[in-house]
Amino acid sequence: MTRVVDTAGLARWRESVTGSVALVPTMGALHDGHRRLIARAHEIADAVAMSIFVNPLQFGPGEDFERYPRDLDADLEICRADGVDVVFAPDQSEMYPREPEVTVSAGRMGTVFEGAARPGHFDGVLTVVAKLFQRVRPDVAVFGQKDAQQLALVERLVTDLDLGVRIDSVPIVRDADGLALSSRNRYLSARERETALALPRAIEAARSASGAQAAQDAARATLADAERQHPEFSLDYATLVDRATFTECPPDFRGDAVLVLAARVGATRLIDNASLHFVGQSLL
Ligand code: AMP
Repeated sequence: MTRVVDTAGLARWRESVTGSVALVPTMGALHDGHRRLIARAHEIADAVAMSIFVNPLQFGPGEDFERYPRDLDADLEICRADGVDVVFAPDQSEMYPREPEVTVSAGRMGTVFEGAARPGHFDGVLTVVAKLFQRVRPDVAVFGQKDAQQLALVERLVTDLDLGVRIDSVPIVRDADGLALSSRNRYLSARERETALALPRAIEAARSASGAQAAQDAARATLADAERQHPEFSLDYATLVDRATFTECPPDFRGDAVLVLAARVGATRLIDNASLHFVGQSLL
């Protein structure tokens, strides 16, 4: 049975749990991507906690904090249907009784790509994740690969600050047309949604290329076409990065990479990515 709790109720619930706990942190407006995280959490832990909190600290001035979709009733329906044990949906004053003086710094990795486009964003993300970990004390937390840079930074958060929480992740869940599910897709008109499909097309193009340089070139060519054809489409970045460090891959890169993509479609900023593995040339 799903229980909705405040901070004190959360602490009582946590004390009562004897098995392992998985936390699924979200900002609500739940979709099938979030549901995949819940399913994964059930697989790897005895009890599942979900947090639903639109975190003001990770939104910059002029971003969509005010208009970010919020629908707690619909979210709770999903949590009940999916057997979430506890939902922690604090309001702002419960999460931040006063303006925090001390926050987590995401370091260099927090200043590139999404961090360059959204200064302070990852400091805000890591600060709220650290606070949620303190309050829920999960054994494991489940994140989506949709937010690849966030996932890489959360992994560094727990190792660099010895938080003792295992991080698990789930591949990107996409709609039938290929667009990665996102709460922000609700902002798109039908026409903008069609235009946004340039992102998964760029990923397909990169996957069919061979070698790091060719993969990045193929993605950029697809996105440049989209910019020419659709004035409402504007590319921010399309770069192949080393998965562990988020530094740009050299042309002959071998190993685990992520092709990170960000674009604006009309007024909506969308991100997508693909994990790519590059092996050396066979000597045979
Ligand atoms: P959000 O509510 O957007 O902050 O996302 C909460 C969690 O759900 C994050 O770990 C996201 O990476 C994950 N997530 C969001 N969309 C998707 C998706 N399409 N596929 C997989 N995970 C997702």
